[in-house]
Amino acid sequence: MNQGCVFCRIIAGDIPCAKVLETERVLSFLDIAPVNKGHALVVPKAHHATLWDLPLDLAAELVAAMQKVGRAIMEATGAEGLNVQMNNLEAAGQLVPHAHFHLVPRFSDDGLRLWGQHPYEQEGEIDRLAESIRKRVS
Ligand code: AMP
Repeated sequence: MNQGCVFCRIIAGDIPCAKVLETERVLSFLDIAPVNKGHALVVPKAHHATLWDLPLDLAAELVAAMQKVGRAIMEATGAEGLNVQMNNLEAAGQLVPHAHFHLVPRFSDDGLRLWGQHPYEQEGEIDRLAESIRKRVS
């Protein structure tokens, strides 16, 4: 439990939430400011800050919860699609430093756009960067 963490306080029951799933190690509840109605968060009960801090067995439980809750959101809202998003660190938009996944129900006419994309500009740049990343993957 991290006293300054809003999600730890929700997990402890100090702050109410609209809970949709609870297991021994995972909690899922609706986001208070949804992108679309039914937008849920899936969080580990233990305080881990980012993707890289999650033990792999816990990560597997989080994925299992996402599969269950994601399917239920689709059925309950009539959504045609679902985005799964995780923001890691402030520069990526992480406001709450307690690892969590967003499940956002999507509709073909909801008008939302994903982030813009652009091509690599320099010849060979994509291959050099792939090599640089490959060297660091262990
Ligand atoms: P992120 O920017 O990925 O850290 O997302 C944090 C999310 O937590 C935001 O979408 C907030 O709307 C949501 N949030 C913050 N406080 C609460 C709360 N008390 N109950 C439900 N969702 C919350």
